[in-house]
Parts: sequence; structure tokens; C-alpha cells
Amino acid sequence: MGLRHVSVGFGSVQALHTDPSLFRTGLPLTGLAVYLTVDPAQPPTPLENMKRELSGMMQAAGYRVVYGDPRAPLRNAAVSALVVMDLRGRCGMPAGNYRVEPSATSGADLAETAVSNGVVLPFSHINCGNLTRLVSPVLAEEVATRRDFLCGRAMARVAVHELYHVMLGSLKHRREGIAKPSFSVADLLDEYFDFDCVTLALLRQRAGQAESTTPRQ
Ligand SMILES: [Zn+2]
Repeated sequence: MGLRHVSVGFGSVQALHTDPSLFRTGLPLTGLAVYLTVDPAQPPTPLENMKRELSGMMQAAGYRVVYGDPRAPLRNAAVSALVVMDLRGRCGMPAGNYRVEPSATSGADLAETAVSNGVVLPFSHINCGNLTRLVSPVLAEEVATRRDFLCGRAMARVAVHELYHVMLGSLKHRREGIAKPSFSVADLLDEYFDFDCVTLALLRQRAGQAESTTPRQ
């Protein structure tokens, strides 16, 4: 089940404002361990931006994300869910003048999560090459810090789409927001792109169930 890119005009309007009444403010967050594997050539700044953005989006859905390394499993981490996320290739652009590579073609895979006999498994990967090729023609116009910020946020949006499949164990997609089956460049780079209200409510419900069954330490 892969997340694809579709070619949609840049700057399309997204009406995905989160209903503030849905926020679980004050309620405990459910621990979610995300084990990241990255390419040795992965630039650190977009990765750090991705982690921060991903944490914020998942927190709104009821999860407190802790990051780990699959080679050194987290000990004593109070988590009730675990996902392994592999960043394949290099997500991000080098500083300075950047030679714009040909943009990814429509239909290019951005990410994928493993499915076996219809069961969603907690193993996802991001195709960094496709993601970088897709956003780089736009980001080439930006200064390095802004590139790294926007690239990290785009990575987070793609990663959160896969986390949505894993956390809900669902192969389904929605018509809007993070759970859409394919993302445009605008979805990746626009200022606002978030969960649709139904997906957000489902994730919070699932997080609440996990929280209530996690033994207190
Ligand atoms: Zn999907």
C-alpha cells in the first residue's frame, strides 16, 4: 500500500481546519516508539525538522512519539505501539546552489507500509529520492534554512500518512488530508495540510484505548 504523488496544480486550496473541540487537551498521551533507520548521507537538519513536525502532528492525534534506533532498542520507554520507519536514500537538498533534478513523474511512490494477508504491519519506508525530486524544483528558490524546514515538514507529512495506516490497521484512504491516497506538491509544501476530522477522531479514539490498556509504571 504505497503513498503516491499525483500531479496537481501547486497552490490548491485545502480546507482541513482541525475542529478545536476535538483536541484531547489535558488527557494523557499514548507512547508511540518510532524506530528510524536513515541513510548515512542523510543531512541532519531536515531529519530533525521531520521529527519535530511528526511529533507535533501525532501529538494532536493523541500520541507522544519517542524516537529510537532499531539497533539499540529503547529500554524502559512507556510505549504502547511501535513502528519501524526506514528513510531510503537522501531526504533533503545540499546547501548553496542546487542543480534542480528532473521532477518526479506523476505516480512516483513516496512511501509504503508492509501489508501481509491484508494485515498492516508496523514497517514503513519513505522513498527519499522521489520525495526530494518532487519538492526540489520549488525549494531551489528558497534559502537553505527554509529548504530544510519545508523538506522536513514534507517528510513528516509522508511519514504520518504511513503511521495513520499502522496505528489504525487500515488500508483505507480518505478524500482529504493526510489520509489521502496521493499527495500533490502543494500537499507536501503548503502551510496547512493536516488530518481530516474523521481520521483525527479515529486516531484519538485508538490512542485512548491503547492508553487505558497500558499498565501504569
Ligand atoms: Zn496510504
